[in-house]
Amino acid sequence: MSLLLVYGGCSTRAKNDTAWPMAIAESLPAAAAESDATGTLLHRSCPNCGNDNAQTPALAYSWEHWVLRECAKCSFVYLENPPDYADFAVAFAWERNHGDRSKRMKTEYPVSHAVSKGWRKFYRAVVKKPDKLANRINKWVPPGVVIDVGCGNADRLLVLPDHYETCGIEISEGLAHEAQELLAARGGSIINAPAVEGLASFPTGKATGVLMRSFLEHEHKPIELLTHAERVLQPGGIAIIKVPNFASINRRVMGSRWCGFRFPGHVNHFTPASLRAMVEDAGFGVMSFNALDRFFLSDNMWLVARKD
Ligand SMILES: [Zn+2]
Repeated sequence: MSLLLVYGGCSTRAKNDTAWPMAIAESLPAAAAESDATGTLLHRSCPNCGNDNAQTPALAYSWEHWVLRECAKCSFVYLENPPDYADFAVAFAWERNHGDRSKRMKTEYPVSHAVSKGWRKFYRAVVKKPDKLANRINKWVPPGVVIDVGCGNADRLLVLPDHYETCGIEISEGLAHEAQELLAARGGSIINAPAVEGLASFPTGKATGVLMRSFLEHEHKPIELLTHAERVLQPGGIAIIKVPNFASINRRVMGSRWCGFRFPGHVNHFTPASLRAMVEDAGFGVMSFNALDRFFLSDNMWLVARKD
């Protein structure tokens, strides 16, 4: 299936260039015969090393029919049977399912859910949190084209300083439309496509920044995505990555209640070591990934990488 719609003018792919959909189609994992109310499910081998772990026992963190595996070869934790991209574009679009975890917590853990919700409401009311993404962009990303992968409704692009030209990639048709409308006044373009296809449509060396905030954990093919991110950047260009930290203390304490477990949206569970290794294997140099960036008490970690 080919799904790539461009709003605005930031795509530079020639209209008669059919090379990328063929390459993407050939690289997709084979779809399993499994199909039910959740749509067609894929069967993934380890996205980090390629090992098929179908015979490995599912992790206890698995939920309902969603199967989490820990790779027997490299220990990477991943969702083996995510819905395919077509389902993500419609039935599993972010704006339709992001409340699923909250409903699950409310049903399965009503007391801790209520306490947690109250605490978060109080915390947000009294604590002014720093804008970690904006701070990193201002510190690291040179002026030029910035591509936000999984841009949602373009809220992050809208607030970028004027010396950045904004582009977004969003798989949800509804959010892509909303993003383009919101971005129209500022100037910028949205590609409605899966992330790898969207990045593949950019020429080499086009951008000075690629943002992957809370995205890489959703990507079926994280190595391909990082490889394209490195390709589309100019030398000296910066990628900013934020993902949940599977090695966090909270995951060990909270178990299945950990906020990093979202089914079926989160398909990769990175540790600091596996994130760094995958980023470096894609050709990046790691610029910032210190103890505070991957603080063991935090649910998330931030990494800044540069194309040399
Ligand atoms: Zn593996």
